[in-house]
Amino acid sequence: MSDCIFCKILAGELPSWKVYEDDYALAILDINPASKGHTLVISKRHYPHMNDFPEQEYLAFMASLRKVVKGMKKYTEALNILENDGKDAGQLVPHVHFHVIPRRPGDGLQIDLWRAQHDPDLDKVQKTIQSLLNE
Ligand code: 5GP
Ligand code: ZN
Repeated sequence: MSDCIFCKILAGELPSWKVYEDDYALAILDINPASKGHTLVISKRHYPHMNDFPEQEYLAFMASLRKVVKGMKKYTEALNILENDGKDAGQLVPHVHFHVIPRRPGDGLQIDLWRAQHDPDLDKVQKTIQSLLNE
């Protein structure tokens, strides 16, 4: 995609801080890191969302992600690994990428602190999602 910033990085048209590359993924440092070492694992092919991947390529990309995570575990013991999928989930760049975010004691990051709510509809929600997942 010509107007995609990650496609431009992949094509070498924009500079980046590369830390790992294989046939399916490029891992670079995030330009605005949430913590030191914040790494983006970017799909080599342009897919806006996870569900756009063909099955085999998806599995290969997951293997690349796992490899990066294994290596990053030597950098910091604790990591948040997340993908923002969709605008409402905070996805700014519609080209699949995972964030691998190093965590350290007392770093003050609040990724894991969503506002927990009581939901009286768990039974209903379970039925809906369960049927969608088993279609
Ligand atoms: P998203 O919100 O789409 O999950 O995350 C996009 C991420 O890409 C952000 O954390 C942002 O800092 C990072 N980013 C955006 N533009 C660039 C860039 O040109 N270079 C690098 N290395 N990271 C970028
Ligand atoms: Zn792209």
